[in-house]
Amino acid sequence: MRRAVFLDRDGTINVDKGYVYRPEDLELLPGSAEGIRILNEAGFLVIVITNQAGIARGYYTEKDVQVFHEHLQNVLNAEGAHIDAFYYCPHHPEGLPPYNVECECRKPKPGLILRAQADWDIDLHSSWFVGDKSTDLAAAKAAGCMAILIGSDQYCFRAIKSVEGPVMVSTVLNAANLIINSK
Ligand SMILES: [Mg+2]
Ligand SMILES: [Zn+2]
Repeated sequence: MRRAVFLDRDGTINVDKGYVYRPEDLELLPGSAEGIRILNEAGFLVIVITNQAGIARGYYTEKDVQVFHEHLQNVLNAEGAHIDAFYYCPHHPEGLPPYNVECECRKPKPGLILRAQADWDIDLHSSWFVGDKSTDLAAAKAAGCMAILIGSDQYCFRAIKSVEGPVMVSTVLNAANLIINSK
């Protein structure tokens, strides 16, 4: 079994501008590429787990998300980093058909993590989830992963109140260093 670091996307790897999908709106947060490279080099699978309710809401298509992920991968590759896999939830209960379902994959539910676990034979208890919202922490907890919270904004403080003692850092680079030094 392998160890993974699951990464939220918007607000963790890249700036959360709200329903980001255009390649030109990709703006990496400081330390993201370096942090991912460190995790790659340490032998962790690095897997993106992201809610993309903009698909259900009709703001953009699954194809748009896939194109955005290809662009993100290319930008990271140029920095010597890579994502092993991308998993996204296209659903929202108030969205448009066929995406308007109460799914098992929209965070805070752990469905995407569990899907990745099965696809990649991951040991969840020695894996980590790095995200910027309470829903990320809740998904991590439900899946049995260790969690690290990124950021210092409103979401972060709200998230801290919602769970017992999450580790909080400011960048994916800080999170990566914490993870590789933890054991
Ligand atoms: Mg986020
Ligand atoms: Zn879903």
